[in-house]
Amino acid sequence: MNKKRKEETLASLKKTVRNIPDFPIPGIQFKDVTPLFKTKESLSALSDVLVDEYRDKGITKVVGIESRGFIMGPIMALKLEAGFIPIRKPGKLPADVIEEEYEKEYGIDKIQIHRDSLSPDDVVLIHDDLLATGGTMYAAYNLVRKMGVKKIYVNFLLELDELNGRKLFPEDVDLKSLIHFDI
Ligand code: AMP
Repeated sequence: MNKKRKEETLASLKKTVRNIPDFPIPGIQFKDVTPLFKTKESLSALSDVLVDEYRDKGITKVVGIESRGFIMGPIMALKLEAGFIPIRKPGKLPADVIEEEYEKEYGIDKIQIHRDSLSPDDVVLIHDDLLATGGTMYAAYNLVRKMGVKKIYVNFLLELDELNGRKLFPEDVDLKSLIHFDI
């Protein structure tokens, strides 16, 4: 995809994202990504720009974070000819897991991945819908890193630039968001 077409596609996708003020609590500007998936045109444009970004990276596994990482994650995996691995909240994955704790606004949360899901020769793309403070993805990144894979890429559909969640990640981590919002 050439640069101009990519920029036009991203500008049109950005307009498709719906802002819901004061959801789920007052003061939050909630970015609703569901309109991006609603029509065949936007779903197809979204998957084209995502796949274009990672086509030549040799990705063998796409790891999606529950639950909005489960929408484009498997679509990307299929198009990149990779497998798909879920990261889930505690108590959901049935086999042996490893887990990572992280701090949320109120207290500690945990995420888990199946222990046998990744191997040392995997090139992994971790995907979620949105980068806010970065706590969720940073925990996912550490979980995957502990498993000793070859390389990790990190991807979001949307990034809230003002919250600067990317500062949590080491500088050499390849972290990309398709669409940026000031807030
Ligand atoms: P964080 O750990 O702060 O980066 O939060 C990331 C997760 O919370 C993502 O999986 C998002 O789905 C969700 N999230 C946080 N803030 C927002 C927001 N303003 N709009 C939509 N989703 C959000």
